[in-house]
Amino acid sequence: MNPFAYYRARSVDDAVRLGQSPGAHFLGGGTNLIDLTKGGIVQPLLLVDVSRLPLAEVATLPDGGLRIGAMVRNSDAANHALVRDRYPLLSQALVAGASPQLRNMATVGGNLLQRTRCHYFYDTAFEHCNKRAPGSGCDATGGVNRNHAILGASPACIATHPSDMCVALAALRASVRVRGPRGERSIALADFHRLPGDAPQHDTTLAPGELIVSVDLPPDGFAARSHYLKLRDRASYAFALVSVAAALDVRDGVVRDAAIALGGVAHKPWRRPEAEARLVGRAPGDDAFGEAADVLLQGARPASQNGFKVTLARRAVVRALQTVGAPA
Ligand code: SF4
Repeated sequence: MNPFAYYRARSVDDAVRLGQSPGAHFLGGGTNLIDLTKGGIVQPLLLVDVSRLPLAEVATLPDGGLRIGAMVRNSDAANHALVRDRYPLLSQALVAGASPQLRNMATVGGNLLQRTRCHYFYDTAFEHCNKRAPGSGCDATGGVNRNHAILGASPACIATHPSDMCVALAALRASVRVRGPRGERSIALADFHRLPGDAPQHDTTLAPGELIVSVDLPPDGFAARSHYLKLRDRASYAFALVSVAAALDVRDGVVRDAAIALGGVAHKPWRRPEAEARLVGRAPGDDAFGEAADVLLQGARPASQNGFKVTLARRAVVRALQTVGAPA
């Protein structure tokens, strides 16, 4: 591991200022960044510790939504009464995301920024990884790619985003509030993570040095009908092969609103408003659910070893919608 400097930020402004330094990385819970640093995948020159900043509150917004501070630990977010009561989909996804020990350390801001779990990315013995070493190639394309993307991939990278929390946030139409040298802005969760294109080294649309300060949720949390379904090789401590965040608003036997996002299938949480539109105005049922799943998976292009994910994802979407669409 290369030597680096460490500085504990005293304020958000202090952190943003230091975040402009060459080689600076923000340190929250460290559950991903420390591994990346020890493995030589990331080589920070300066760690700016933001874990003590006053960004650990959960508060109701004037429009009735909810603001979750970037430094709220994943376990605290999952167990917060307002999250459990009003956004149970988010609570379920957070609990599915990691062991209790990791959830106690990991922060909401850090969860948004966690890197892919592609093993070629983590193992520097493999030379060709465009995400780790831009322009070097992609060993996963012709290698072991059972866990990789089936949607939105590019010749440069077929990695998936590993977060469960972000899949729920995508379905819930959350936004990410960030602070940078030019001030504060809000980014829709759907626009926060990138598809790989020809620059897979960039996971997000954050500008250099921008600090996540909160995640904001809209007032409607689909509390009456939502479900997070995670399918993985082991019952726990495993990343999703496929996951689904599904939610319906059903009144008088008709779907008024729908939200669906997929995890484990793309470089970002995968959502298509056209798939949700297929459900609106119809009675919940398998025909509508299957159509929505087909629209969501349109254009799927599996790698050499993960064709099974297309079928698995379709079945998972239908099953999650059956769960939330069952008669009350
Ligand atoms: Fe690297 Fe992406 Fe290829 Fe994995 S899939 S080896 S992260 S370029």
